[in-house]
Amino acid sequence: MLKFILKLILIFPMITSAQDLDFLKSLDQQYDSYREKSISHRRFKHSDIKPLITSLEDKIFFTVKKAGVSAEKREIYLVSWGEGPVKVFLWSQMHGDEPTATMALLDIFNFLKADDSFNDFRNLIHNKLTIYFMPMVNPDGADIYQRRNIFEIDINRDAVRQQTPEGELLMSVFDSLKSDFGFNLHDQSTRYSVGNSSKPATLSFLAPTVDYEKSVSPVREDAIKLISGIYKNISNFIPGHIAKYTDDFEPRAFGDNFQKMGARTILIESGGYKDDPEKQLIRKLNFLSLLYSFKSIAEGTYKKEDPAVYEKIPFNEKFIMDIVLRNLKYKNAGHEYTIDIGINREEENYNDAKDFYYKSSVEDVGDLSVFYGYEEYDLKGMEIIVGKTYPQPFNSLQEIEKLDFSELYQEGYTNVALTGKVSQGFTKLPINIFYKTAEDEPLNIKPEERANFIIKKDNEIKFVVINGFVIDPMKPQFKTGNALIIK
Ligand SMILES: [Zn+2]
Repeated sequence: MLKFILKLILIFPMITSAQDLDFLKSLDQQYDSYREKSISHRRFKHSDIKPLITSLEDKIFFTVKKAGVSAEKREIYLVSWGEGPVKVFLWSQMHGDEPTATMALLDIFNFLKADDSFNDFRNLIHNKLTIYFMPMVNPDGADIYQRRNIFEIDINRDAVRQQTPEGELLMSVFDSLKSDFGFNLHDQSTRYSVGNSSKPATLSFLAPTVDYEKSVSPVREDAIKLISGIYKNISNFIPGHIAKYTDDFEPRAFGDNFQKMGARTILIESGGYKDDPEKQLIRKLNFLSLLYSFKSIAEGTYKKEDPAVYEKIPFNEKFIMDIVLRNLKYKNAGHEYTIDIGINREEENYNDAKDFYYKSSVEDVGDLSVFYGYEEYDLKGMEIIVGKTYPQPFNSLQEIEKLDFSELYQEGYTNVALTGKVSQGFTKLPINIFYKTAEDEPLNIKPEERANFIIKKDNEIKFVVINGFVIDPMKPQFKTGNALIIK
């Protein structure tokens, strides 16, 4: 008998965890049927999601309330679902350019609306939880795809002073709900690594601290345990890609204040993943993490999780760059030496912030052996020379289109000049364009300078780097990138 009980004790946690994983695996398989297909990239606006939210009013079990408005009078909604005693509050995109979790919330609405093999799970969370959602807390920022609200205030530093209408609203809704759990949903830099590893921090979690001493209050301890459970399960989908966000106390932030005010608060940060620029995989991982959390809260299993799992999650570090070019020979000022070059690509909004193009620059030069790139090139035995600007300007983009780019590269050119009119700051042609003046690139390869190079072996041109994108000179075109039109 004792043996049997012991066996049960030993097996039971394993069974629970296997059930959770099976649940997540079948959710993953069926995810496409819940994905909100009208939103498939990050630069959606309030006007895109408003009809999706208001249409929930007609759906059984959903309540949709206009909680308030932003500074520019865009509606901020509070959607609720469920009739259980435990209150769970989720809010997304208080930073306008951090939309990944908003997409996941739309998918969760579709999941909750559906009628399928997950009905038992829906019944469970419906009876145990009341879930409140506030998607897109900063719709004005989202409209111009910027972090801050329209007053240029960071809403997540406004939890105490509450000068932004959005921050004031978030606090007053939180006050009126007195929720038991809070999910603070953000995006972080795609260049965070998991500790000093080569892996991007695709998701980072945090149970925000309640004081400078980083005390573990009972409320925070529950949040920590829930993250332990999320980490164990979601790691199966992205092994090694989960980190912990910095746990420094920020007295002006919402997460820290909500934790202090008694809601078990969890920060989820969506980072980067190779070949997922629109974060559609990361959106699904948010969907899985949140539904897992609802399950764990409804079943109370989070209480049994080991806080040590959370403690061992590596912190975010910054060891990732977009591109690392390694072991290049560089001749400069009478010296020949070996360098690595790190390049980052920033997104520039255009077309009313509905689209973006890339603007790349050198991030660092020298021994970059501790850094990793989303793209890496070992260029040992090759020499880097700076790309030149073709001296004769062209009159129109059409003239430039007809050029033989392979030939220009062979002659060492990565830039041309244009006298005619252009309206935008980028081109899909594989050459940078200087507007009006034929300007030469600086001779030094140094941080903040544009990343336009020629890479050769002996006298053969092996690669051309245009605006930070590596191009095969025999196939002069971008796979995903763009060059710049520089005014
Ligand atoms: Zn944020």
